[in-house]
Amino acid sequence: DGAQLTLAGNAGPVEVLRGITLTVERGQSVGLIGPSGSGKSSLLMLMGGLERPTAGTVRALGHDLGAMDEDALARFRRGSMGVVFQSFHLIPTMTALENVALPLELAGAADAFDRAEAELRAVGLGHRLDHVPAQLSGGEQQRVALARAVVSRPEILLADEPTGNLDAANGAAVMDLLFDLRDRHGATLIMVTHAPELAARCDRVVRLLDGRIAADGVAA
Ligand code: ATP
Ligand code: MG
Repeated sequence: DGAQLTLAGNAGPVEVLRGITLTVERGQSVGLIGPSGSGKSSLLMLMGGLERPTAGTVRALGHDLGAMDEDALARFRRGSMGVVFQSFHLIPTMTALENVALPLELAGAADAFDRAEAELRAVGLGHRLDHVPAQLSGGEQQRVALARAVVSRPEILLADEPTGNLDAANGAAVMDLLFDLRDRHGATLIMVTHAPELAARCDRVVRLLDGRIAADGVAA
């Protein structure tokens, strides 16, 4: 019962998630914690439609993600989900402005560059619009990634260790920004983190162990 994910490893199939039942309310912030290898990133991928469950269902905003065809799923993800990873996944040949405008352009927005510029100004990068990622610090790159994740006003924001590659000061700044974006846009935030003090900022903390939910509760 619950969602399962089995992946084909080199030494045979790996049961990564073994029956996850989790319902997240709209607007809730959830911190996903647990030891390395417990399945946090895999669960986030499942919730983001980047992996399909081997068994069980994954629903988001009324859609059954596992049952959607690739095109519909891609459109849904572009329109309703913003994703931020530990390594920023920016396109190296594009400027900050082009990176942030890209999802809007793919969606056919006429004002992609104006909106991208406004979003970059909102994360404090109005002076770095024309820099490519290699010309930006780690914290700046993560802020570009955040701007790109929220520029389409997604209802769901997924983050996998968004501060994992940043020093304490930059990590705190990115985290403030993430919660600020959540507050301003009312998005549902699901965030994987190793840091208990970051998880404690969420409304709810879910702890995974060996592909299962080991604890689920309100942060102390
Ligand atoms: P970390 O804190 O180290 O990022 P995690 O909790 O995010 O860990 P996952 O990346 O979800 O863990 O991995 C969960 C388990 O699934 C691990 O045992 C991992 O080896 C396995 N796994 C992940 N991806 C694959 C894959 N593509 N093929 C086979 N096994 C995989
Ligand atoms: Mg992980």
